[in-house]
Amino acid sequence: MVVILENNATKIQTESIIKNLEEFGFRVHVSEGEQRTIIGAIGVQPDFDTRKIKVLEGVYDVYRVTAPYKLASRSFHEEDSIIKIKDVEIGGNNIVLMAGPCSVENEDQIYRNAEIVAKAGVKILRGGAFKPRSSPYAFQGLGEAGLKYLRAAADKYGMLVITEIIQMDQIDLIGDYSDIYQVGARNMQNFSLLKELGKTKKPVMLKRGLSATIEEWLMSAEYLLSGGNPNIMLCVIGIRTFEKYTRNTFDLSAIPVVHKRSHLPVIADPSHATGLRDQVPPMARAAIAAGADGLMIEMHDDPKNALSDGPQALLPDTFISLVKELKAIANVIGRELA
Ligand code: PEP
Ligand code: MN
Repeated sequence: MVVILENNATKIQTESIIKNLEEFGFRVHVSEGEQRTIIGAIGVQPDFDTRKIKVLEGVYDVYRVTAPYKLASRSFHEEDSIIKIKDVEIGGNNIVLMAGPCSVENEDQIYRNAEIVAKAGVKILRGGAFKPRSSPYAFQGLGEAGLKYLRAAADKYGMLVITEIIQMDQIDLIGDYSDIYQVGARNMQNFSLLKELGKTKKPVMLKRGLSATIEEWLMSAEYLLSGGNPNIMLCVIGIRTFEKYTRNTFDLSAIPVVHKRSHLPVIADPSHATGLRDQVPPMARAAIAAGADGLMIEMHDDPKNALSDGPQALLPDTFISLVKELKAIANVIGRELA
């Protein structure tokens, strides 16, 4: 941690800051410049609240040098983490596709759509059975029946399953049907849910909260990892900004930023990021080019009548040609689209 003193900090203030730092357990290194004094405080604890120093008289600013997350950081684990689920590997050189409708709407719908995505080469079928909708009047999902249809459809076409968990008491139920728990943007900081998911070993995909900083997102991943679950991947869905022509602002730069700071695989979700189908293919291509380890894409064979997120669902033909383009981009950057 670096503590920068005010230009006019007095000797008494400086001594008091040093004493405080030492009492908090830091080793202190003082560097006196012509204008300002800078104090290097060595030995910061991950949970140290830098405001304890910021409030001291004579302090201009305080910066952390080390990240508050440990297990999620690249310095803790230099190699890319690879999550293995049956014959699918997520992370490393692999690029994985997760696709399917936003929601499981009925048995026939999920079988039809599962067949389309499986034929396009998708390894992981998505579909929500418990939907966290902005309106309480909107379709909330089929619940356990939806999970059953989703699992059966995925099994029929040899795919894995990812589906969203929205509350703690669904861990066993969803764990019985799904290969990956999806934690949605709205639950990124549901710490009680994260703690419980951390106790399982089942892979978790953690979406970034709409207004969460990358550091807060990685701290949420830290909750999962520190519970003992090493099978964690992140998912970029964009962030909330002032822009209205897109659902979220798809901050692709989060992909290289997270790759630099963390070893965890990063999936990108251009469907929820943009909210409109015509924007999905360009952003999907861009995400792969930017280094995403996989994509989550919504696809529906009858989006006009979809019960959720129809306007952002790709039609089958568009989806199939997009997958071909993604394979080509993957090849150019020396990666393998599974
Ligand atoms: C979803 O994947 O259908 C979903 C609700 O995701 P998000 O958390 O990105 O809104
Ligand atoms: Mn959706």
